[in-house]
Amino acid sequence: MSPIDWIAALFTLLFGLAFGSFLNVCIARLPRHRSIVHPPSHCPGCKALIRSLDNIPVLSYLLLRGRCRSCGDPISWRYPAVELATALLWLTCFLHFGLTPAGVAMAILCFLTLGLAVMDAETLRLPDSFTLPGIALGLAWSVISAPEGSRLRAALFAALWSATAAGILLAIAFSYRALRGRAGLGLGDAKLLAMFAAWLGPADTLLILFLGVVITALYGLTQLLRGRAGAATRLPLGAFLSLAALYTVFAGQPTIAWYLHFFS
Ligand SMILES: [Zn+2]
Repeated sequence: MSPIDWIAALFTLLFGLAFGSFLNVCIARLPRHRSIVHPPSHCPGCKALIRSLDNIPVLSYLLLRGRCRSCGDPISWRYPAVELATALLWLTCFLHFGLTPAGVAMAILCFLTLGLAVMDAETLRLPDSFTLPGIALGLAWSVISAPEGSRLRAALFAALWSATAAGILLAIAFSYRALRGRAGLGLGDAKLLAMFAAWLGPADTLLILFLGVVITALYGLTQLLRGRAGAATRLPLGAFLSLAALYTVFAGQPTIAWYLHFFS
């Protein structure tokens, strides 16, 4: 890497930390239908406002030893973890795609996906305020990234495929409800898969669905065997679909090529 690349990588990391900090605010507030701009950041325990010096990503958490300055309540490790994860995902986008439109697009997708993964893991909710703009941005990206002359076709295809992906998940949801008499997955999961479909196209989406369902099943089975889950426990399918999507953004093409070579 040239010195310019090193500087660009460093700035990518710093921007990733800052946006990760903003993502934490979204994760804490959106599933509870609270505004992300008002009120300003405060301790959930004692409501004390967080000074900007105590709001530096990762560093403040380490300096405060993971405790609120006013009341000493522990701060969730989720805060530095999300900041670090955003920064590392953005660095990986930079190293994988370079400073290109694709690199920026995948950084946006990673940001949304990480946020949705954590929100689903914590609250079993996938807020529309992330999935719906995510679908719109994905459709926009499929148009921008298509060669000139075939943009209209690309837009129609992406919209149709995105709706199909949502339909596949809804079909699974309805069959589950018909068989078990209760809801196992929600509309949020369908919108999430539609979002990945809008950004990434059919092959990647099917890989995400396959990996997500397999990981969720394995997780559910382990929880069941350890006595931590019953037949009625809801599993965070959305969180596992999101993890599968993060894998697929960077390793989807080689994984699909590896799979297809068994048939050639
Ligand atoms: Zn406090």
